[in-house]
Amino acid sequence: MKNRRIAVIGAGVAGLSCSQKLGKAGHDVTVFEKSRGLGGRVATRRTPDGLFFDHGAPFISNPNYAPELETRLTGDELVNVWQARPENAAYVGVPAMNTWLKPLAENLTVQLQSRITEITATEDQWRLTVTRDDGTNSFENFDQIISTVPAPQAMELFGALPGFTGVFDKVEMTPCWTLMVAFAERLDIPLDFQEAPGPDVAKLMRNSAKPGREPLPDCWVLQATEKWSISHLEEDKEAAHQLLLSILQDIAGFPLPTPVYKTAHRWRYALTKNAYGVPFLPHPDGSIYLGGDWLLGDSIAHAWRSGSAIADALIQTD
Ligand SMILES: Cc1cc2nc3c(=O)[nH]c(=O)nc-3n(C[C@H](O)[C@H](O)[C@H](O)COP(=O)(O)OP(=O)(O)OC[C@H]3O[C@@H](n4cnc5c(N)ncnc54)[C@H](O)[C@@H]3O)c2cc1C
Repeated sequence: MKNRRIAVIGAGVAGLSCSQKLGKAGHDVTVFEKSRGLGGRVATRRTPDGLFFDHGAPFISNPNYAPELETRLTGDELVNVWQARPENAAYVGVPAMNTWLKPLAENLTVQLQSRITEITATEDQWRLTVTRDDGTNSFENFDQIISTVPAPQAMELFGALPGFTGVFDKVEMTPCWTLMVAFAERLDIPLDFQEAPGPDVAKLMRNSAKPGREPLPDCWVLQATEKWSISHLEEDKEAAHQLLLSILQDIAGFPLPTPVYKTAHRWRYALTKNAYGVPFLPHPDGSIYLGGDWLLGDSIAHAWRSGSAIADALIQTD
């Protein structure tokens, strides 16, 4: 098993939890990630002026669902506890949500800005078409494929393969429009974290109140509800951030000063609404495994558990 070449698609939580475990067990793993950095939906926007916004997962929910993850977080100097409200304490990465994930990629071969666009069978392997950000394509052969991309993207790559037809009908992922906005001075909003503070808002967070962040400028992240995000899904970024800013204005209840930074991000596949219900899905011949949060649920801990379970399954066959 150890002389087999393994490709992991996606360098989010599931891809990294899986790859680091396989790497430690001595496997030859190559990780392909379409974006410029690690973490996937555990994401932080860094502006040219040095502002930080955790515009993906704002914190790590229920880490005890994945005991290995919880053990890792305890005592990790790249995470800290954010006591957002007396009744809400949660782990966050410091100084950005995705910092604690970077050490997982040490000693791994990770190809960034490398999107897998096609998977075809050769006589005894799988051939991946890797499309780089500069538009060039290359082809690489692997014995084992592990996919950790969101369900709709996995469907594009694997939906036509025998063994995976019909799988994706059972899964639903929902979008989330997210506003990132900063003000030079602190806004007079007493709570740093609010759930459903208005009809169109799922969460409102003062990012600069998290541990390890600069208190000023006053950086905020607003996540729209599923309903609002679906009904504005094809809005352009400019229109979306203007609309979300007026929603923040209503919540604040006073005229907002001119922001020093504002933008919006559309997560087309943000959260799992209906999960598949098992940690991973193997191809009948075992040469492909599908994983990711959507197999189990809607959080970092679900993603971790899925990725880690795939690694365990492969290590067992060593
Ligand atoms: C707005 C928002 C709020 C959230 N709130 C919370 C929360 O409060 N608590 C919590 O625990 N979780 C939260 N989550 C969910 C959490 O972020 C996810 O469950 C988790 O990060 C999913 O990890 P993953 O590895 O399964 O998938 P992803 O993080 O999506 O990783 C998949 C990776 O695959 C890459 N990829 C996709 N297609 C290709 C391709 N063809 N080739 C190469 N690479 C590809 C992507 O770029 C991505 O990096 C939130 C997410 C969002 C977006």
